[in-house]
Amino acid sequence: MLLFGHLGITMGAAMAAQGTKQYFDVNSKRRITFPSPSESKDKLSIHRKRFSPVTITETLAKNIDIRFLLIGAILPDIIDKPLGLFHIGSGRSISHTLLFLLIFALSGLILYFVKKWKRMLVLAGGICAHLLLDSMWLNTHVLFWPFYGSQFSTGNPADWISHWGTELTGDPIVLIFESTGFLIAAYFVYFLFKQRKLCAFLKDGYFKE
Ligand SMILES: [Zn+2]
Repeated sequence: MLLFGHLGITMGAAMAAQGTKQYFDVNSKRRITFPSPSESKDKLSIHRKRFSPVTITETLAKNIDIRFLLIGAILPDIIDKPLGLFHIGSGRSISHTLLFLLIFALSGLILYFVKKWKRMLVLAGGICAHLLLDSMWLNTHVLFWPFYGSQFSTGNPADWISHWGTELTGDPIVLIFESTGFLIAAYFVYFLFKQRKLCAFLKDGYFKE
């Protein structure tokens, strides 16, 4: 998966999870009533507003720091691609391992239970999404490092661009994920600009009212 696949699909998955949580929260509190036709119209518009992408994004930002989710979503590539340029691995090495994810997940759990600090756990969630989107279960040598040997295979960074081009044009799944990811990322940036919340988001990770 490439940049927009990672950023957009991770963001979309978090929004879908938030929307699902809201749906079950509402349904668990709902009582069976028989509203009049005018009441049901009002209820429908409230329902629509509650599940609009804007409301879901705002609620998501109240629950987690989206900045850390997005950083986690691309962190393995931010670390491993430069290492690959120096022939340490082939662009997927130390940060694409289960060990790397476990270190962040365990640190996140400790920080959450000791200090109620959620950001490290959110970062670990982003890293987990990255490994899933990279289908790392197909690359067990890297995923389960160092159990299959401590050396990472090296590649030629000069081939990366042509490899990404081939992936994008030759694999419809990658193309669909990248296009969908781009649309979700574009929606999120548009949302931030339209609501004039870009600065608040970058500074604090949530949207001020
Ligand atoms: Zn990657």
